[in-house]
Amino acid sequence: MIDSAGFLAQLYEVRQLDLELDVLKTSEAQLPAELLDLRAQMNTLNDHISGGLEDLDRLRRDISRDELERDGLKAQIDHAREEQDKNAFDSKAQSQYENRIQQLSERLNELEETLEPLYERRVALEARKGELHGQHRSMSPQLESLENANDARVVALEESFVAQKVKRDIRMAELAKSDKRSVTEYEMIRRVRPNALVPIEKGRCSGCNAQVPVAIQQKASSGKAPAAKCPSCGRLLIRMVV
Ligand SMILES: [Zn+2]
Repeated sequence: MIDSAGFLAQLYEVRQLDLELDVLKTSEAQLPAELLDLRAQMNTLNDHISGGLEDLDRLRRDISRDELERDGLKAQIDHAREEQDKNAFDSKAQSQYENRIQQLSERLNELEETLEPLYERRVALEARKGELHGQHRSMSPQLESLENANDARVVALEESFVAQKVKRDIRMAELAKSDKRSVTEYEMIRRVRPNALVPIEKGRCSGCNAQVPVAIQQKASSGKAPAAKCPSCGRLLIRMVV
């Protein structure tokens, strides 16, 4: 209970509204754990998807490069065979073509051996890509509905915030009519210390716990404007009666 129906008691009620407003603001910014969790999972998934796509692109480029070289070798081998046939009568040229074909075929075999594991890896990466996209598709609707629920929650909080703020400002304007200075002081202190008006408890300021001189305690007891201030932290003081 407050000892007087005077100015300070009413300012104290505004202070209650202000603290409630602070709670509304804080909870507005606090996102539900479930949403944060799913957002984090989705981010990780997106990283994996884009990482996987980059790997797949790089692999496809490697494969095309090797396939191009392979096709070139095949063409060179075919060409060498044609030339070999044309020169069937010349045994020296024959063996030169034979050597050439041998070298090209060895390189062709090497390339085909190189390509084999690349094809296997491509199959694996494509399967992984499909799997990750499947996860993405199954998580998306849940994330969307959590985001929508959160948006609705924020809108509702914002509405109660605005309603409460209007109520508070009207009361503050009324109080300013009887003591503008205390109201201005309260608003200024509140910018730094959310709890700008505090009760004196056992002779101490309940904001900073400093001892409050008796003269100031007596001033606070009147409950009238202008409000007494804590000499230590500068908060406005009120005397509560239990
Ligand atoms: Zn203090």
